[in-house]
Amino acid sequence: MIQPYSPLHSLTSGHWFKLICGASFQDLPTIRNLALAYSLAGADCIDVAADPAVIAVAREGLAVARQLEPTAAPLLMASLNDGVDPHFRKAEFDPRRCPPDCPRPCAQVCPTTAILTTPATGVIDARCYGCGRCLPVCPLGLIEERAYVSAPELVVPQLFAAGIDALEIHTHCGHQEGLARLWRAIQPWGHRLQLLAVSFPDHPDLIPYLQTLTEILDPLPCPLLWQTDGRPMSGDIGKGTTHAAIALAQKVLGANLPGFIQLAGGTNGATVPKLKALGLLSGQPSPIAGVGYGSYARRLLADPLEAVMGRFPPHLEAHPPLQRAAIAQATTLIRPLKVGQSPRASPDPASTPV
Ligand code: SF4
Ligand code: SF4
Repeated sequence: MIQPYSPLHSLTSGHWFKLICGASFQDLPTIRNLALAYSLAGADCIDVAADPAVIAVAREGLAVARQLEPTAAPLLMASLNDGVDPHFRKAEFDPRRCPPDCPRPCAQVCPTTAILTTPATGVIDARCYGCGRCLPVCPLGLIEERAYVSAPELVVPQLFAAGIDALEIHTHCGHQEGLARLWRAIQPWGHRLQLLAVSFPDHPDLIPYLQTLTEILDPLPCPLLWQTDGRPMSGDIGKGTTHAAIALAQKVLGANLPGFIQLAGGTNGATVPKLKALGLLSGQPSPIAGVGYGSYARRLLADPLEAVMGRFPPHLEAHPPLQRAAIAQATTLIRPLKVGQSPRASPDPASTPV
């Protein structure tokens, strides 16, 4: 049964907020602090890489949040891929091959400081989430991508042992065999799943593909969430990216598939006002369940989280002014989606405990 004002209630009422830490992002202190700040601000779900170390620090952040605010209880989700997918890759290059006078455009475009201006190192692997922005800017073509696909039979049991509540499968048209294999590995753990999300970009044959997936995933032991990845990993680039996110959600909405629909890929501060103007975030159930935010949500908290990294311990809760600043920033993103939900889910930064 779905409890009032639980994360799953947020899905039915159009108030669902998901923080996407990044399927390949493994910067542990940052993930811990992001999970803490966004939980306290009212997030319904924290989505992280399928890595037990990442899940452990996210759980730490969630535990601290719950100590401070007992009603802060977002789902913890991990993301897996069923084949080659840009979310599951890392950039790399050998800095010894770089000319000493290179102005390092790669460092300038990197949104996570995975490439530093000085010292002239290569890619800091844990901070790279595979956005690909550095790949075309190297004048010498030195930067390469390293894609990876996890072995589901090994990884899935580790994820449940680490304490996840939900899973997300990243798929693309034509991956049905990979998805079926992944689903077979997940099924024995179905009783532990509170939510299954399926994330995909657009494609001319998308709707028939998603219809095939509903057959593969049947019977489902939990609610299903379609994550429409409009313009992947781009929400921090500019307001305009939200158009692709909304267009794909409308396309999937028109297909009348069973399950909830949540936007991602290009979502930012312009997304909720636009969805509301289109009447897509109202009613019971709401046509659109909510929004997932990745690069935009992370960038919003960049200043307080970078400041906390220069202190000891690098834990947000140990530095109340920075924690307040981070929660206030997170609240600016969550509040428009939560208007009309419970007082807890529509947080006031002035009343948030620190
Ligand atoms: S620009 Fe993107 S792909 Fe390149 S190093 Fe930074 S995060 Fe990784
Ligand atoms: S742009 Fe290319 S050559 Fe210049 S620092 Fe980056 S990887 Fe090296």
